[in-house]
Amino acid sequence: MDTFKAIAASPGIAIGQVFLLNPKRIKTVKRRIGQEQVQKEQERFRQAVLAVEEQLKKLISELPEEIKEHSNILKSHILMLRDKMVHDRCLRLIEKRQVNAEWALELAMDEIQQLFRTVKDTYIRERLEDIGFVVNRVKAVLAGTETRLDLSSIEEPVIIVARNLSPADTLHISKEKVLGFVTELGSRTSHTAILARSLGIPAVVGLDDITSKCLSGEMMIVDGLKGQVVVEPDEQTLSDYRLKHEKYLKYRLEVIHNSNLPAETTDGYRIKVKANMELVEEIPIVIQHGAEGVGLFRTEFLYMTSRTLPTEDQLFFAYKEVVERLKPYPVTIRTLDIGGDKLASGLNCEEEINPALGLRAIRFCLREKGLFRAQLRAILRASVFGDLRLLFPMVSGKHEMVQVKRLLGQIMDELKAEGKPFNKDIKIGIMIEVPTAVLTSDILAKETDFFSIGTNDLIQYSLAIDRVNEAVCHLYEPLHPGVLRMIKMTVDSGHKEGIEVGMCGEMAGEPLYVPILLGMGLDELSMNAMAIPKTKKIIRQSNQEECADFVQELLSLDSARMVREKAIEFFRQNYSPDMETMDLLELGLNI
Ligand code: PEP
Ligand code: MG
Repeated sequence: MDTFKAIAASPGIAIGQVFLLNPKRIKTVKRRIGQEQVQKEQERFRQAVLAVEEQLKKLISELPEEIKEHSNILKSHILMLRDKMVHDRCLRLIEKRQVNAEWALELAMDEIQQLFRTVKDTYIRERLEDIGFVVNRVKAVLAGTETRLDLSSIEEPVIIVARNLSPADTLHISKEKVLGFVTELGSRTSHTAILARSLGIPAVVGLDDITSKCLSGEMMIVDGLKGQVVVEPDEQTLSDYRLKHEKYLKYRLEVIHNSNLPAETTDGYRIKVKANMELVEEIPIVIQHGAEGVGLFRTEFLYMTSRTLPTEDQLFFAYKEVVERLKPYPVTIRTLDIGGDKLASGLNCEEEINPALGLRAIRFCLREKGLFRAQLRAILRASVFGDLRLLFPMVSGKHEMVQVKRLLGQIMDELKAEGKPFNKDIKIGIMIEVPTAVLTSDILAKETDFFSIGTNDLIQYSLAIDRVNEAVCHLYEPLHPGVLRMIKMTVDSGHKEGIEVGMCGEMAGEPLYVPILLGMGLDELSMNAMAIPKTKKIIRQSNQEECADFVQELLSLDSARMVREKAIEFFRQNYSPDMETMDLLELGLNI
């Protein structure tokens, strides 16, 4: 049994078999085993040998006629597989050294090399290479390289272990097939972590080298509450985790049970709590968890999953479905935010050295006007089927809004001329996620109907911390005094112009921050749907005036550490943490 700790990316417990993705990268996993596991490991080795034998026989039978006479080379490989030198040596080493088959193979190879060292005859020495070849084949079978290639081949529910998950991989992530996942890259605000939370799939990310520490088919526990992963758990750990899993499922049921209670503080302050979503499949989760609408509908998905660009009609029907199914609630559709860690497969995006600072979101759309037009037309056409709003990502200043509005005006004229209905008074919002947007929020507030603060990027850009780089994610700090000031400044600028200010970054759904955001005077919090019930519960336990006083105190502090200490103290004093928050509190809430 091996236990690893990394970033708790999505809450919940998953217990199941590992499915290693992209196993080409797999190195030899070395593990000590208990006496009681020796027989099982020896059997695993025998089965791998049999599988290689089958492969070689198949290869021989498929050899083209012209080289059939050379099949002896492959036949000799079969003999080598069975030879005492490799086969029996390996079985013996598993028992004697109590190591897994891969390690035993490596030890066997070392010993054989030692033996051959004294041999002068070149022919015999060359046979060493053949032995190396068969040993590698057995290792590949042991690692599952041969059979497990991509997510579409999953038949039974599994835990996915990968270096990273690409947009194409995420297409196959569904609750039916994926119990949980673990990746080497990523942080709590990387795209795959956000998706995992939206779908309610437990996940741990940023676990260095995990693809070399487990094998396809092995048992694994993913504890997305504590950010813990256990490979080949012993019986006691397994039964402890089965209990924890049951407790968690019960807790989720309770949480959902109260999800429709209002988000109102004890002193009568109402704040809208909405959901972030990006897949149509999420709609039932959004409704079930008590969302008062969708505060952020990410639209990248349709662009990331197809080799060609979606047509205007495809987009229109997708948006229409979302708006109609969520009626009478409002849906805020964000225009394409491609780039950074969200890459489109149908677009010829050039690889950039610094993608987060590259051709992303609104900049990309203002350059690729044809693509932007198609999306805006689709959104406008869908706007007559419900309460639909438009949101523009990565705006850095007024100049971009001037261009966006000009384009929007032209498109409205076109649609009018074509006799296509749309809501001419559609509400237009700006995402505040670039520091200059905060600093010019007084100017931008005059250009828009609402603000939505995207803290995932705002923190990344203001603290200069790459949000998908696990090496620096410990420095990602939503409670940095600079970040708090930026949020306050945006709220004040918006309110001064009489517009609503919401937040749709992951910060909005983290329990510790909710009292602070209430105290800042935000009008709306939008988050992954799973976080809505617990957020509403915290709001119902809060007194907004007290939260506002507390924020004043926080704004006078000069370090993130002090803010965090105070925030934890305030939280412990005023709230009873639920099961998810408890673990995060123990982790120091660096979330
Ligand atoms: C954000 O940056 O906070 C945000 C909500 O947008 P995304 O995570 O899609 O970049
Ligand atoms: Mg963003």
